[in-house]
Amino acid sequence: MPSSRQPYLTAKLQGFGTTIFAEMSALAVATGSINLGQGFPDTDAPREVLDAAIAAINSELNQYPPGPGMPVLRHAIAAHQQRFYGLEYDADTEVLITCGATEALAGALLGLLDTGDEVVVFDPLFDSYAPCIAMAGAVPKPVPLRPPSYTFDADQLRAAVTPKTKLILLNTPHNPTGRVFSMEEMQIIADLAIERDLIVLTDEVYEHLTFDGARHIPMAALPGMRERTLSISSGGKTFNTTGWKVGWLCGPPPLVQAARTAKQFLTYVSSGPFQPAIAVGLALPDQFFHDVAADLQAKRDHLLPGLRAAGFDVYDTSATYFVTADIRPLRPDGDGMAFCRELPDRCGVVAIPNEVLYLDKAAGRHLVRFAFCKRIEVLDEAAQRLATLHR
Ligand code: PMP
Ligand code: GLN
Repeated sequence: MPSSRQPYLTAKLQGFGTTIFAEMSALAVATGSINLGQGFPDTDAPREVLDAAIAAINSELNQYPPGPGMPVLRHAIAAHQQRFYGLEYDADTEVLITCGATEALAGALLGLLDTGDEVVVFDPLFDSYAPCIAMAGAVPKPVPLRPPSYTFDADQLRAAVTPKTKLILLNTPHNPTGRVFSMEEMQIIADLAIERDLIVLTDEVYEHLTFDGARHIPMAALPGMRERTLSISSGGKTFNTTGWKVGWLCGPPPLVQAARTAKQFLTYVSSGPFQPAIAVGLALPDQFFHDVAADLQAKRDHLLPGLRAAGFDVYDTSATYFVTADIRPLRPDGDGMAFCRELPDRCGVVAIPNEVLYLDKAAGRHLVRFAFCKRIEVLDEAAQRLATLHR
């Protein structure tokens, strides 16, 4: 994120340059590097999901879908929430299809926030949160997640809430740390939200990608929380379809309506033929969801020893596509941004400097993120290349 001022850019977005994902993926292509930066898998969606999209295209489902999304997908999402979490949502009034989780976040933040409102966020945070809060004219109030446990301090959370606080923005399982928030942490957040009458906006795109028996806890399932929680997810991660941009949000009608009012003027609608295909994916048997996580866990277990052998200090990760590594054993000045910019030329691998995902830049300066959602042979090759760094 370059800090130089852009002459025509609105003051609200000064400081937000090109996203790191665009920069680093372009660098990977330009240098022919293995891209362990931006999180996207290199294996395809399940056959039946791909076939459903092809069938939809061949059935002329290629025009604007309905504003709130295709009924078949809204019903599949409601059924998914019931099946996995015992949560009941009305498919017509409590589910909204969006252009990826990215637009669900933007729609919710733009639809819910007024100028000067405060949003409690956990730092580090996914890269679209701060700019969307800024576009809404609101202010992020960070609560640090500190290594090695990446948990938060309940007193710091409490102190971050002021009379101006409108909502708490939560992401579990968490990008980039790979943490699944515990029941105790979820309860602390829920208690505070209820006590201070706050909305919780919860980004759960990695809900199915958890390891070692860790289970995702949806905020809406905690007592007293369904009525104040807007839950966001996406088909991209679960079904290896990040390019389809099918996302959604679920919540009580007034919250969904607020998000929908903003969302309809962003893209209006998107991803027509991919919506029925994601509906097919959501209805796949439990075994599919188990296998997706097990496959990713095996990939994690493959990359982590490689990173350690290459000399990084590596943090544990129990979910998502990502692992965080401390570069200081390899680069004592701890400049993660310079490290990532040089890495493709030095050894043909791309990673993401965690600094860009922190509001408190100093806290993330020495950390970099590697994605392990790649085929085993690709991870092996990346590990071999990284091993040349300390030779
Ligand atoms: N939230 C988090 C935490 C993410 O990692 C991502 C990355 N895909 C998104 C939201 C955006 O999801 P989508 O691609 O569905 O827009
Ligand atoms: N969620 C992905 C990541 O964190 C990428 C999303 C994006 O490119 N906006 O790597």
